[in-house]
Amino acid sequence: MISTKYTIREHNEANILNTIIRKKEISRAEVAQQTGLNKASVSAITKKLLDDQLIFETRVGDASNVGGRKPIMLTFNRKSSLVIAFDLGYNYIEGMLAFIDGTVVDTISKRRITVTAATIFNEMKQIIDHFIEIQPPTPHGIVGLTAAIHGLVKQEKIIFTPYYDLDQSTFIEELQKNYDFPIFIQNEANLAALGEYTFTSQYQNLVSISVHSGIGAGIVTSGKLQQGKHGQAGEIGHSILYPNGRECPCGNHGCLEQYASNKVTYDQFGKLKNLDYVNSEILLRYVEKQDTEALAAIQQNAALLSVGINNIIMMYDPEIVVINSSLYRRIPQMVNLVTEELKSRFSESVIIRNTLLEDKATLYGAFAVSAQNFLNIQKLKLI
Ligand SMILES: [Zn+2]
Repeated sequence: MISTKYTIREHNEANILNTIIRKKEISRAEVAQQTGLNKASVSAITKKLLDDQLIFETRVGDASNVGGRKPIMLTFNRKSSLVIAFDLGYNYIEGMLAFIDGTVVDTISKRRITVTAATIFNEMKQIIDHFIEIQPPTPHGIVGLTAAIHGLVKQEKIIFTPYYDLDQSTFIEELQKNYDFPIFIQNEANLAALGEYTFTSQYQNLVSISVHSGIGAGIVTSGKLQQGKHGQAGEIGHSILYPNGRECPCGNHGCLEQYASNKVTYDQFGKLKNLDYVNSEILLRYVEKQDTEALAAIQQNAALLSVGINNIIMMYDPEIVVINSSLYRRIPQMVNLVTEELKSRFSESVIIRNTLLEDKATLYGAFAVSAQNFLNIQKLKLI
């Protein structure tokens, strides 16, 4: 295996590598043109990248319009290395192993479990050890692991996890002791945004709204994830929709997530219909039958969520807002309902759409963190 893997890639090398990734296939002369580096440097650095098997030569290209020799085209080796992603929910763990370009190799899910500080390390270790065992041969092997935390994360520390006690856990230190690849953590809504940014869009300014039991936003501005001083940028679930409204565990009254979360919508609809349990599938069945109360429920959810989306558009002026919610995926017409509710002319040019990563946006964001670190490329796009 190549032993350069945990050193920080030098700036010019990362710049050239990023150019090759962006252009898919490119000659050395074009790399020099794009990066502004001289041909000798480009030649030396591409040789190193070839030796490291991070790129390879594909074919002889067409002669340039200035004549001369036909160039040899370079391309990114999308199978040069592997990354691991974890989504740590309060009642599930999902682990995925992928090549560095996000091509998934294996997925392991443990559902309906209780995730606690005491058990998390062993649960993760089992999955990681399995991935190590079955990993396909690559020049660099596993080059990073990133775990999504449902709570506040600041500078690689878990600050607060409202739904479980991972803020009491030392699993990150334990993982670092057991494995030699770098390990990262990040808030799940932030990772969802990074997943969309890296794997599904060309946009530089993107907001991803994650709606589960709570509501959070991940914000990417000019290609950079916004986290704020305390790691809580984008906590729009706790923006106030109704002053003096319903009490929220955060200490406020009338927070958006007390009205527009999926859970609230299911609970209210359940009460109305005398149902013990409601999820997106059950609600969809009523919507398909044109049930008036079901149609009203989705209309109301979209109207309330659109207030949060309106406010975040006004604050961050994104090019696109991506909705990451099982409810909106199951009933895609709700995206149109939200768009209709956004009446401000400031919102006119903003694209609103569902995630293109199904329920895996967070995991793809986790791949992106490890890939960015290994390649030393900040605004990495792998589409
Ligand atoms: Zn709140």
